[in-house]
Amino acid sequence: MELIRRVKEMQETCLRLKKERKTIGLVPTMGYLHAGHLSLVQRARKENDIVVMSNFVNPLQFGPKEDFATYPRDLERDNKLAAEVGVDYVFAPTAEEMYPGNYSTYVEVTGEVTGKMCGISRPGHFKGVTTVVCKLFLITQADRAYFGQKDAQQAIVIRRMVQDLNIPLQIITCPIIREEDGLALSSRNTYLSPEEREQALALPRALRVGQQLIQEGERDPKRVKEKILQVLESSPGIRVDYVEVVNGDTLSELIELKGHVLLAAAVYVGKTRLIDNIDLEVEPCTAVC
Ligand code: AMP
Repeated sequence: MELIRRVKEMQETCLRLKKERKTIGLVPTMGYLHAGHLSLVQRARKENDIVVMSNFVNPLQFGPKEDFATYPRDLERDNKLAAEVGVDYVFAPTAEEMYPGNYSTYVEVTGEVTGKMCGISRPGHFKGVTTVVCKLFLITQADRAYFGQKDAQQAIVIRRMVQDLNIPLQIITCPIIREEDGLALSSRNTYLSPEEREQALALPRALRVGQQLIQEGERDPKRVKEKILQVLESSPGIRVDYVEVVNGDTLSELIELKGHVLLAAAVYVGKTRLIDNIDLEVEPCTAVC
């Protein structure tokens, strides 16, 4: 496995690989790798000749009061893990390398997909994400890019960017990897005290209650949303940021639950903000409803 820190070197390497007709799979990450990240690499490994993983804590996607400075980082440990799962190149540029002093270009997806959920709680976040991801697509010339369903809204926003800008690359969304007790893996879980770690379980539990309600026949998104909220609000240590029950492809509001549905929530456990979601295919209402 090779570590590359310069944009020019990464770009020249990838252009050479493309000339050799190699397919490139890109896995963008902010590092502090866990099994969720590694699952994306494993999928990319199966589908491409070359796997590039970016490891870059992107300052542009953090708000001024957010955790950019304290975000966990351990490049040495990450590189060992990346080599073990078969990454060919780790691209780990500095912020200055990605955004030199005269940097002035941004990519922003507007409208409904960024105008709700994390787009409201974290102004500017998705603009930072789409800008860095667009740069990574151009630097690596990837044929496929792999994202986790864990960040469902992010995957939808990136799909929209790729579609709108006619970027010749395929987006692949991979399932959420969870701890045995249900908590979705996240680099931010390291912020949680043992007590908060326990309290955080209310997040996947509340979403599962919503899912069960749908499986029992509920088709009113408002009632599912209220139930999820009720579980979260009655859980100690949890402060709700948002709960949404929306179309899983477009994030549009639903009058009746059918098709691809996303149950998504963001909560604070102490100072740590966690997100999670469940997506499911819902059969249309039958005569009994
Ligand atoms: P991050 O380093 O948190 O920016 O995440 C990098 C990529 O890994 C994103 O596409 C995330 O959606 C994905 N990811 C993060 N956590 C998980 C998880 N628990 N399961 C699957 N993918 C994940």
